[in-house]
Amino acid sequence: MAQEVSEPDLSTQAGRERFLAEASDWEMISGSGQTMDVGPQMRGAVAVFKNGVIVVASGQRHRPQVNAISVRARHFGIARIKMLDAEKDFIEELYKAFGSTKPKTNWRALDLERQKTLSRIIHEAAEMRASDIHMRVLEDYTEIKIRVNGRMMEIGQEPSQDGQEMIRAAFAVAQGQGASGSDSTFQQGAMFANSGLLPENVEMLRLQYTPTSEMRGALVMRLKYVSKSYETDVDSLGYSLQQATDLRNMRLKTNGMYIFAGKVSSGKTTTLQRCLNAMFLDKRKEISIYAAEDPKELELLGAIQAQINAGTNAVTAFRDAMKAALRSDPNVIVLGEIRSEELTSMAIEAAKTGHALWSTVHAGSALGILNRLINLGAEREDLKDPRTVGGLIYQRLLGVICQHCRTPLSEALDNEAIDADLAERFARLTGRDMSQLYVLGRGCDKCFKGLTGRTVVAETIRPDARLLEMYMDESRVKAEQYWLTPNEEGGMGGAPVMHHALIKAGAGICDIDEVQGEVDLLETYERELSQLVPRLRRDIDALLAG
Ligand SMILES: [Zn+2]
Repeated sequence: MAQEVSEPDLSTQAGRERFLAEASDWEMISGSGQTMDVGPQMRGAVAVFKNGVIVVASGQRHRPQVNAISVRARHFGIARIKMLDAEKDFIEELYKAFGSTKPKTNWRALDLERQKTLSRIIHEAAEMRASDIHMRVLEDYTEIKIRVNGRMMEIGQEPSQDGQEMIRAAFAVAQGQGASGSDSTFQQGAMFANSGLLPENVEMLRLQYTPTSEMRGALVMRLKYVSKSYETDVDSLGYSLQQATDLRNMRLKTNGMYIFAGKVSSGKTTTLQRCLNAMFLDKRKEISIYAAEDPKELELLGAIQAQINAGTNAVTAFRDAMKAALRSDPNVIVLGEIRSEELTSMAIEAAKTGHALWSTVHAGSALGILNRLINLGAEREDLKDPRTVGGLIYQRLLGVICQHCRTPLSEALDNEAIDADLAERFARLTGRDMSQLYVLGRGCDKCFKGLTGRTVVAETIRPDARLLEMYMDESRVKAEQYWLTPNEEGGMGGAPVMHHALIKAGAGICDIDEVQGEVDLLETYERELSQLVPRLRRDIDALLAG
């Protein structure tokens, strides 16, 4: 390998002879028709060997074309590169000696082999309705895990080298991997049906590669399943009656911003898609929708969906799309994510000029969306107007525990399967006997590891002027209190996502351990939201009564 090659001085005759002697059994890959054919012009300047040795014409080492070749070499699986300087004549000599041998490694065939394995893994994951596949190349092996109903599970191992080659093979058929193909840079891409690797029920695979060392990395592939775009049922996703009503009222509006927040797999896309399609049908297809996202994930009825070629300059691409959107004057604008100051001001402008704008931002709560918009340069004055800020939604997805094998809390406590403190707090908050409360079971033939699906837990706000003014002019805490105060006491009667999650845990739908891990600590709820406890108990009873 390259690191074992001692460094001969190629400017001397002795050095060149030593090099040729050592190189006698090396494989050149940059020659005409060889694996990494660099073209006739670059052959005057560079010779690449499969072991990572690259001989470069003196003074050309830092040319961008030479740099590009070394990046390409890494992409071909060459881990360590050693560059040696030599005169052009010597490089010519090297090509005469090594440049016409047939490649020993058939990269294309290797790619096909790895793609076959990759395809098998994707099919396996899709069969179990996994949301993503994690491939982590470790020193000794490649770990392959999938996430089903929010839980990670290992489905197999491959040799370390195979893992890295599989990742390379994945990007070879993916689109939009960006400029660099190196193992040591971050890469993104998307794989579609035309890759030939996806099962019928998967229409896209999003790839995110993270280098973890010079030669290894981790690939996360998110599966996007084929969904029926006419599906317009928002209510069944798991919202409470009040939240479903809020969402219905938001879709009736033809102006204002409606913004979702939540982490990567929080079901935002599904909700957004169904909301917009329901809106389109409710309004008898008489509205126009313009959408810009990167990559395109929403399947929208009757919408113009801009193709964003973001690449490295997403900000510019989105700005252009927004300008085009405003010029085509649609009723509804959908923006994948508000993530720059310019987009923020354009979004607000759109909302103020008679468009409904639906989008997402990174925020940890519904009210936190306002803070995020301020950080993105929004004018406080603009955000005080409920005609501009029409709706704020924050959500998470939690596993639905199997009704057939769920375990009563009392039993889980006896078996020490749950923390005693957590169990007691759970029973105290919900006011229920431990035998009436349930946690995740061991799994049975009717479920997968005790889970049967996922459900939304959320908080939705349709702000009024008072809430927005309080938030902007007074304090966030005050605004939040006003939101949580019951209607009959002059507040907005809102409930935070933790309240919704606890209702579902109390009704035996979600696991309390996951609620605590994914949403918030019970202790925090008990300490800061104790005024909601009577309501929590009523809400659990109501949900159980159906
Ligand atoms: Zn079960």
